[in-house]
Amino acid sequence: MPGTNRPCSEIGDFVRWDAVEGQRHPGLRAMHPVPVLMYHSVGPVPDRSRRRGLFVPVAAFGRQMALLRRLGYAALPISEALVHLQAGSSRRVCSITFDDGFLDNVDNALPILKKHGHRATCYVVSDRIGMTNAWSQAVLGACSPLAGEDALRLWLRSGMEIGAHTRTHARLTRASDGELADEVSGSKESLERRFGVPVTQFCYPWGDHDDRVVRAVRDAGFTGATTTRRGRARASVDPLRVPRLGVMRHHWLPAFWLKVHTRYGDRP
Ligand SMILES: [Zn+2]
Repeated sequence: MPGTNRPCSEIGDFVRWDAVEGQRHPGLRAMHPVPVLMYHSVGPVPDRSRRRGLFVPVAAFGRQMALLRRLGYAALPISEALVHLQAGSSRRVCSITFDDGFLDNVDNALPILKKHGHRATCYVVSDRIGMTNAWSQAVLGACSPLAGEDALRLWLRSGMEIGAHTRTHARLTRASDGELADEVSGSKESLERRFGVPVTQFCYPWGDHDDRVVRAVRDAGFTGATTTRRGRARASVDPLRVPRLGVMRHHWLPAFWLKVHTRYGDRP
């Protein structure tokens, strides 16, 4: 394990360890699961914020993306990663997802993703484009700007994907049947009409879902949906209940590596 606090040599240490282990256990590669990473914001913590962990520093995000590339992961949008899982390829694949559609995903994360050749998915709240995440103000203490239409168009033009995250960031298990259909189908239709792209992926706000919600997501025509349940995705995964690995501000590179690349990421 790496024992240095110099970021560049840390990445090199992880890569060397991986090469040695890969030669000792070649079967490991064939069985490699797909880590689906969950981010919110990439950037500085706003004043008065009570949830500092949701803001991953830009430099840390850069090191994480560099490490994924050096380990040989192809970062695919979640729709393509799920297809890859079902196809059973031995290629190393991960997926990088961003919840809520913050402007800093485009301003800060996009240049780093492009630099490393990674492609990612951003889950957008369709009735809140260009506004703020005011739905969380009571919990977070501060709001952050969400990407507007132009920023999301740049995201799409750069080869990235958008998915739906309801119309208003609703708690779906508490919604009536009518509200549920409106939040789920309505967000898909709105995003597809506005951006002219198919929107096949969904993310449950707050991870809040049950069988009724999952049925509504399937009936709306989504082919994949991510949760906040921890774990790496395997071929047996239910594509409408995909687990993820949350990446937080306090996760230093060794913790990130453990989650993505070892069974530590599968522990509940
Ligand atoms: Zn959310």
